[in-house]
Amino acid sequence: MADNKIIDGKLIAETMKKEIAAEVANMIDSGVGAPHLAAVLVGEDGASLTYVASKEKACRSVGMISSVYRLSEKSTEEDILKTIDFLNNDPEIDGYIVQLPLPKHINETKIIQSINHDKDVDGFTLYNIGLMQLGEPCYQPATPFGIIELLKRSNVEIAGKHIVVMGRSNIVGTPVSVMLSRKGIDATVTICHSKTQNLKELTRQADILIVAIGDPQFVKADMVKEGAVVIDVGIHRIKDNSEKGYHVVGDVDYDEVYKVASKITPVPGGVGPMTIVSLLHNTLMAAKNNKK
Ligand code: NAP
Repeated sequence: MADNKIIDGKLIAETMKKEIAAEVANMIDSGVGAPHLAAVLVGEDGASLTYVASKEKACRSVGMISSVYRLSEKSTEEDILKTIDFLNNDPEIDGYIVQLPLPKHINETKIIQSINHDKDVDGFTLYNIGLMQLGEPCYQPATPFGIIELLKRSNVEIAGKHIVVMGRSNIVGTPVSVMLSRKGIDATVTICHSKTQNLKELTRQADILIVAIGDPQFVKADMVKEGAVVIDVGIHRIKDNSEKGYHVVGDVDYDEVYKVASKITPVPGGVGPMTIVSLLHNTLMAAKNNKK
């Protein structure tokens, strides 16, 4: 029997994929064509290669077209900007991402801010960040969007609740805090970071605790209020003697915190699968706008 305490991100992501695939099939049937997501990949960073490959696979699994623009590690800013310019202007490409991190000699901000905001399916341009801040429709960053979908689709009440977010990064902590506090979602949000004093006092007040700090199993049971909902964003590979040579844990000590939480996301299988599906959601939105 399913454990109702566990928020099953894998299952929720599969459901969302089916919904997206149905919309893609409708677009193809009605003659507008399949959404097309492109990725710019600079260099041979192992994690980036894996992420881009899984994005391609996810695209194909819902009937979308995916293409990858591979540039050498030694590319100049100008080389990358040329590719960006091509993608910005190619009507066949509905949306695209630039896989981060870029090599050290490249100004990441300059590259990201050159993306046409209508195709910015990662939601990283200032234009999309501004719309998000105003609570207007926009491409919402993938992990925060995925977290909010997880909560909604698990019937967790958000409006009026006190949500404590641990971490203030530009890709997770800050945007998820902003999005949760907008009109219509209506949570009361506290953001914590490495300089926060009395951390435990704050986390223990959370009805919903979202943890995105990048510190393996940092959150223990005594930091969590009895009955709280806990969302663990962290992903860490811990070396072990298993066949794979490692196992994956989050920022939360799952076994301990499971005992006090009313709902909790596992790692793996919680927030992770939602991030890619959120990118597909944004690509579908981009294609609907582009192919109008
Ligand atoms: P990040 O850029 O390293 O930011 C970490 C944030 O946590 C910083 O704001 C830092 O504070 C804060 N912090 C660190 N230690 C803390 C502590 N003890 N108490 C309170 N705040 C603390 O990390 P990120 O990119 O947001 O990623 C966080 C984790 O999520 C990583 O494990 C990453 O791999 C994972 N992640 C997963 C997904 C997914 O799809 N599941 C997506 C993105 C990231 P300061 O600002 O003061 O330094």
